[in-house]
Amino acid sequence: MPATVTFLPVGCGDMTLIQLADQDATTILVDINIRQDGDDPEGDARDVAKDLRDRIKRDSNSRPYVDAFLLSHPDADHIRGLEKHFHLGPVSEYADDDKKDADKKIIIRDIWSSPLVYRRASKTHTLSSDAKAFNKEAKRRVQVNRDKKFEGVAVGDRILVMGEDENGKTDDLGPILVKIDETFSKVNGVNKSGYFSALLLAPLPKQEDAEDEENLGKNHSSVILNIKLGADAKTPDGCKFLTGGDAEVLIWERLWEKHKKQKAELEYDLLLAPHHCSWHTLSHDSWSKLREKVNVSQDARNALSVARSGAVVVASSSPIKDDDKDPPCIRAKREYESIINGVKGSFYCVGENPDEKNPEPMTFNVTAEGVQLATKQEAGRKAAAVIGSAAVPRAHG
Ligand SMILES: [Zn+2]
Repeated sequence: MPATVTFLPVGCGDMTLIQLADQDATTILVDINIRQDGDDPEGDARDVAKDLRDRIKRDSNSRPYVDAFLLSHPDADHIRGLEKHFHLGPVSEYADDDKKDADKKIIIRDIWSSPLVYRRASKTHTLSSDAKAFNKEAKRRVQVNRDKKFEGVAVGDRILVMGEDENGKTDDLGPILVKIDETFSKVNGVNKSGYFSALLLAPLPKQEDAEDEENLGKNHSSVILNIKLGADAKTPDGCKFLTGGDAEVLIWERLWEKHKKQKAELEYDLLLAPHHCSWHTLSHDSWSKLREKVNVSQDARNALSVARSGAVVVASSSPIKDDDKDPPCIRAKREYESIINGVKGSFYCVGENPDEKNPEPMTFNVTAEGVQLATKQEAGRKAAAVIGSAAVPRAHG
């Protein structure tokens, strides 16, 4: 099976499932936004909990699981539905074995979390119950790791900490700490190099200057990874997937400043348009106030412009309209389209696929030259001719 990246239709929110091309078909889930009405058969929202369950495996005890779950940052539209759908606490306390499959909670074998992102988020707003529950679980796992001196940590207790916290709080975390600019290949404690590696680009470290630090928090500090996915056993560099939660303009400016001489670190075949295709990712100006008078931040745009041939940009948002709304913002969509125009790329909005009324999960297959929308969907799109540019096949070879 090829590696795949699937974007689930969750309105303005993120929920991405990565499946590796390895023998275990390892799964990595990035963020969740399982809305209440999605659980309600009478509700309007797509039942993405079912979409997820249909795509993940069951263990030897018939329990559904993901190998890893990354939370980019703890805003509600990235963590909604955690307590309802996922098992929290030690696996020994799993209580759903007698329930039917659809009602069993999903086990998270390995958690990837950033204490610094949490610290910043809790200064700007009150965290939801799901966000607090995730933090409690992450702290529990860090403690288990400390107690066991990082040896023989069981499935369900594993964690990787994304970036150093302030005041040396994470200095003793040794093997479970990933520092900024480091690359890691372990998923659920197993080395997946050749099929998976990820470069940690953000959260940017705690700033000395208090105002500077506050601004990073206000820019929706998020975990940003550049993930390299192998197309198969012989093709480790199939696709580079740049995913960065809701990180806004200041963060992308800093990343450009830092990486402009090593642009490969920002390079992508697949980009999740940050913050649901928000204008605030690309500019300091307000779209709703200034409309066409807005200025683009050249540095932020540059950071998001290192697109490889045939690159795909995906907005995980509601349909993008020519109006004052932000996010998603029509002006940001136009900017991404102009970025990928030069590399014969494509832009997609999850909320518009295949149509606005009934959006469906969008799956991209990882190939030797990047990503390609799964065949069935591509055929469907051509037949429906929903978006002209979507029918243009990627240039291969
Ligand atoms: Zn968001």
